[in-house]
Amino acid sequence: MQSQCRIGPAGFPLKGPHGTDAMPYLRKIGLNAMEYQAVRSLRISRRPAVELGSAASENNILLTLHGPYAINLSSDRKLVRKQSVQRLVKSAEIASWMGAFHVTFHPGYYSGLPKELAMQAQKESFKNVLDKMGEKKISVELGPETTGKPNQFGTLEELIELSNSFENVKLTLDFAHLHARAGGAIRSRGDYEKILDKVEGSLGSERMRSLVVHFSEVETTSKGFGEKRHHPLGSGYGPDFSRLAELIVEKGYSFIIICESPLLEVDALKMKKIIAKIK
Ligand SMILES: [Zn+2]
Repeated sequence: MQSQCRIGPAGFPLKGPHGTDAMPYLRKIGLNAMEYQAVRSLRISRRPAVELGSAASENNILLTLHGPYAINLSSDRKLVRKQSVQRLVKSAEIASWMGAFHVTFHPGYYSGLPKELAMQAQKESFKNVLDKMGEKKISVELGPETTGKPNQFGTLEELIELSNSFENVKLTLDFAHLHARAGGAIRSRGDYEKILDKVEGSLGSERMRSLVVHFSEVETTSKGFGEKRHHPLGSGYGPDFSRLAELIVEKGYSFIIICESPLLEVDALKMKKIIAKIK
């Protein structure tokens, strides 16, 4: 199968217009995806959200949405869990207004709970969110993201388990976070391959299609484990996008690649060129 990835920035372009005008701009420079950032606010109302979605589809830009950072589905406090569920349902509603098919979010923290209990809490919260989405007839994919810090819930294994527990849940594969959380673990093509094989082996080839992937090079903390700062492509911090690109092309993956480097659309275009060179 031939790889047909969509690529775009995490947020509106740095050098281009924001809002609906961003969509023709992204198309013009050669991109075809964008992750709308609702990381600090869910205040966008229905009309501008619908308008953004129309502009996106007119310009062949596939949208995803990044939900708020203030979400902890496995908090040890009931109220926090409840508010997190509400925020996630609201994120899904906004995504559906925009025609964004996938909501990326950080699922939360272990909050001092043993890992099994944190998992149990996550599953209960996910069920609540999906039930509420069902009542509102919202059907978008929930994409808990592999997280970059050891105190955050969201290892690859945990998110595979969640993805296999619910129909409308499919993890967001953030390579910078996977790299940082394990102390700079992605050094070779083989390291990427292990991750991709694990996801494909558990989710199946069908669900591997249209997987949402986040990419940036990343600096780890001085202690070595955990993300400190994102860096542009080619900065040398790693991981190296070229090795991932080779595997994407060889295996024919059609991912939605969201560029989270500080250069957003500039590096998204760089990624596109790296992939095109291999083909
Ligand atoms: Zn994120």
